[in-house]
Amino acid sequence: MALEKATVFVIRKVNFKDSDYVVTLFGRESGKFAGIAKGARKLESKFGGVFDLLNLVRVVFYQGSGLEFISEAELIENWEGIRSSGEAIDAGLRCARIINKLLEEGQREMRAYDLLKETLLSLDESQVRARVVELGFYLKLFRNLGYRPKLRECASCGRSVEDEGSVRFSPEAGGVVCSGCSTKKEFPVSGGLRKVLIKLSATPQAGVQRLKVTENQLQEGFSLLDRFGEFHFGQKLIPRAGSGTELM
Ligand SMILES: [Zn+2]
Repeated sequence: MALEKATVFVIRKVNFKDSDYVVTLFGRESGKFAGIAKGARKLESKFGGVFDLLNLVRVVFYQGSGLEFISEAELIENWEGIRSSGEAIDAGLRCARIINKLLEEGQREMRAYDLLKETLLSLDESQVRARVVELGFYLKLFRNLGYRPKLRECASCGRSVEDEGSVRFSPEAGGVVCSGCSTKKEFPVSGGLRKVLIKLSATPQAGVQRLKVTENQLQEGFSLLDRFGEFHFGQKLIPRAGSGTELM
């Protein structure tokens, strides 16, 4: 029986049988995988609260039939800063949830791992404007998975849209479309949001809280990425603002 080790984020947790958890874990090298933590819900469990969602944990496991069996788990980081703020914890949980939805079991995605880690470090450091950090996470995650929305040039003809104020956005075309290419069926995107998304894309997660983003631009940004993500990934990914984590 070969023991394996991995450093992982806990991105999903469900009760199993009387006293176990089945946890979905996401590691840089190991990718996403599910494991069973026997007896983890018992008060006297050796696992304690180590499998709280978002925790960074070092696990030792071995191959079971279907699921990995987790034999040891040591807490590395439980994000006290994030847990001190409802807004920050909700944002962090939604980021973990979208990773769980988009990645297949066994899929390795190192850039998504690094992005999640940067995002949680940023939220742990400061809980202000957690939703700007969350918006930046979605934009960069889509980019890492091969879907970078075109924001500077028309996605149809390639002409710069820098001189146009409000332009239109087409998930099918893959980004903004200029007035010449627009069929008016695309939805509008304000010049302000377009610039915010360009800045968000270029700024590391550690710095996005300092960007100037209005509440309207945030709402518009979530809505745009929601439609973009739904078109390209074929599923609803981004919950409405303030809807918390009931979709976990
Ligand atoms: Zn065009």
